[in-house]
Amino acid sequence: MIRVRSLEFRYPGTDFLLRIPDFQVGTREMVAVIGPSGSGKTTLLNLVAGILVPEQGSVHCADSEVSTLSDAARRDFRISRIGFVFQDFELLDYLNVLDNVLHPYRITGALKLTPRIRERARDLLQQMGLGDKIQRGVERLSQGEKQRVAICRALLPSPQIVLADEATGNLDPRNKGHILDLLFEAVQAHGSTLLAVTHDHELLPRFDRTVDFNDFLVKDGL
Ligand code: ADP
Ligand code: MG
Repeated sequence: MIRVRSLEFRYPGTDFLLRIPDFQVGTREMVAVIGPSGSGKTTLLNLVAGILVPEQGSVHCADSEVSTLSDAARRDFRISRIGFVFQDFELLDYLNVLDNVLHPYRITGALKLTPRIRERARDLLQQMGLGDKIQRGVERLSQGEKQRVAICRALLPSPQIVLADEATGNLDPRNKGHILDLLFEAVQAHGSTLLAVTHDHELLPRFDRTVDFNDFLVKDGL
């Protein structure tokens, strides 16, 4: 489902180099990503989603060679195939909770906003404990609530691939277990593939496999 080969990526003007010789995630696999801050975990998710493009190597994801698509095709690919829970949520402050969750449907022809989708959005928000805040502006939410909105937005299109960047990082322990259950249930119900960055080592046994970014660190300043 995800295959990264001979990848090299550098942010222009910096000496950070992410080098990944070979990395694969199978269909329906649930993989945790751990590693020190600054080791490139978020960068990898952005490369898989086609938000960033590698300097060298290839990123194959959900039947597309993401690294070779045009900008417009990458955007459609991302919106329709990938559910991305961003580390900093990337919610739109001027929209309420429901409109944030529906937003991807309004910016691409690749997704169709139907009454069923609206109903599903409400159901998801209800399950995430946000049923009474559907009309609230997201700037008036707690961090944990924002995170749950971001998870609902990512799951709504039942994407083939869910990329979650520390998706439970801002939740209290009780909510964390519950939200993670919902995330896993949604991923399993749709046969999606999950790649999730986490700092919670107690969550790791719930994944099929853990990938440690220490293994990718480029040593000796090369
Ligand atoms: P992690 O998610 O593992 O903490 P990141 O992928 O966010 O790490 O960052 C990897 C490295 O790239 C860090 O050194 C970070 O400072 C740098 N970096 C991240 N985003 C940018 C950017 N947009 N421009 C330049 N450098 C960046
Ligand atoms: Mg990060």
